[in-house]
Amino acid sequence: MSFSYHHRAQMLKQSQNQVFDLLVIGGGITGVGIALDASSRGLKTLLVEKNDFAYGTSSRSTKLIHGGLRYLKQFEFALVKEVGSERAIVHRLAPHLVVPEKMLLPLREGRGFGSLLTSFGLWLYDWLAGVKKVDRRRMLTRKQTLKAEPLLKKEGVKGGGLYAEYRTDDARLTIEIAKAAHTHGAILINYAEVKEFIYENGRITGVRVMNDLQGDNYVMKASAIVNAAGPWVDDLREKDQSKNGKTLHLTKGVHIVVPKDRLPIKQAVYFDVTDGRMIFAIPRANTTYIGTTDTDYTQNQDEVRVSKVDVTYLLNAVNESFPSVKLNIKDVLSSWAGLRPLIHEAGKSASDLSRKDEIFESPSGLLSIAGGKLTGYRKMAERVVDLLVKKYFSDRTTKACHTQQIPLAGGDFVSSRRLRRLIKTLKRDFVSLYNDEKRFEYYWHLYGRQMIQLLAAVKVLKEEGLDDDTALLKAELDFCIQHELVMSASDFFVRRTGMLFFDIKRLIRTQDWVLNYLQAQFSWTEAQLLEERSKLNALVKEVNHFE
Ligand code: FAD
Repeated sequence: MSFSYHHRAQMLKQSQNQVFDLLVIGGGITGVGIALDASSRGLKTLLVEKNDFAYGTSSRSTKLIHGGLRYLKQFEFALVKEVGSERAIVHRLAPHLVVPEKMLLPLREGRGFGSLLTSFGLWLYDWLAGVKKVDRRRMLTRKQTLKAEPLLKKEGVKGGGLYAEYRTDDARLTIEIAKAAHTHGAILINYAEVKEFIYENGRITGVRVMNDLQGDNYVMKASAIVNAAGPWVDDLREKDQSKNGKTLHLTKGVHIVVPKDRLPIKQAVYFDVTDGRMIFAIPRANTTYIGTTDTDYTQNQDEVRVSKVDVTYLLNAVNESFPSVKLNIKDVLSSWAGLRPLIHEAGKSASDLSRKDEIFESPSGLLSIAGGKLTGYRKMAERVVDLLVKKYFSDRTTKACHTQQIPLAGGDFVSSRRLRRLIKTLKRDFVSLYNDEKRFEYYWHLYGRQMIQLLAAVKVLKEEGLDDDTALLKAELDFCIQHELVMSASDFFVRRTGMLFFDIKRLIRTQDWVLNYLQAQFSWTEAQLLEERSKLNALVKEVNHFE
């Protein structure tokens, strides 16, 4: 059974004719991580997601696999150590998708910590994360810092630190983990929303799910049910009448995207702002993205928007630190806003709340997991599945967690030499077709080894007479439809390719073609096509019109 719309109906049918070991609610990084861990240990696993995979916070982060330098400030050494060590593992599992990126941390007179303390902090950060010697932090003089980033405001710069981070594509990481779980036998269904729980003798035994695409309902049963609904975790706890004790505290984080030539930084920079907060500016393809804000959020989780106030805050932060660029709101090409599902702690502000994950267990047996980070998804999953095995499946032989050995997206590279050889071959093939190395980088980071399939399809399509751009687009869209459960235009443009954020002009250029192609593939009526078109138009408008 492929992970495609061809088999979605079959997956739904299968989901109700058996009792699963585990049912996971939520197809963000936390949920798919649990589904992969459980299915690879031999548990019969089902996951339902109310929208598309990574629709929630897992497509709206800063897109870093990082150790969380700022958590050192909160003395969260264990958290820094765990996520820091995880970076190296996730990089090994998906080297095209988790890519080393040097981060520049400028130091200014009268701001942040002094040079000595920063040097020690970065050393500690590297040490906790087990960073290799060649990649360890390097402290820079004022001259070296300004040479590394000439656009920085010169006044007050007294030096800097250059340290190792990794960048990623959060939504693609989520979909690749979902695909790996599927390969291990899990059933994962998008656009399937849990509406209510089913109980027997006070114990939770199943859920009633609505299939959002056709409007029909399903009953799904499992021995254990995990609520991994991110910012919606408390909504489900409320349905289970177990929202007591610790609760979620949602904070909103916004990013904006500007053309690279409007903020042409030479590498990623992590700089401080007058209010004491830290902001990232990260180059990506032909853009630079900037974030994030951190403000309390109490409104509808499905309607989180970027406001003019958010954008102004980020633009002011950039203009203060890089005064020659003079960014203004018209420069903003795109943006996104995400919600951090943090655990509430009385008296603490948004920025001071811990990013640690916690597991809550309700009297009915519902297990909820919240908090945490993209980076720590594998360990979070391990903790949840260990607990489940102990509670429900101790009488069975199950494997121990081994997700550190499950490569993602065919990223199974025995050695870095083989990886380099593959990149070289793929680049040669791509450039022979498109003569564009930069574009190759873009596709490599999205698809990795799967580019072999993509390029084979492109060659056939070109031979059939399709022009260069359409051949590439069609090959990519076909791949996402056939292997990544794309069900709508926004699945493709937002969460499979990130085009809405990082290449909105291409989205606008190609949207009619994509919509018409999807209509033919999915047999949409004219009314459905119209609805899809207006949803996409609304998204495109939303990312660069602010109130
Ligand atoms: P989500 O991704 O929100 O997934 C929950 C899913 O549950 C959603 O897709 C939702 O649709 C689904 N759902 C809800 N209700 C139901 C229902 N009734 N039925 C079925 N499905 C349902 N971490 C890092 O490691 N690095 C970073 O750079 C980083 N930057 C961040 C920047 C910002 C601005 C934010 C907000 C967070 C950042 N994080 C970062 C944290 C990280 O993104 C989150 O911890 C992580 O994505 C949370 O994933 P999740 O799966 O728990 O939640």
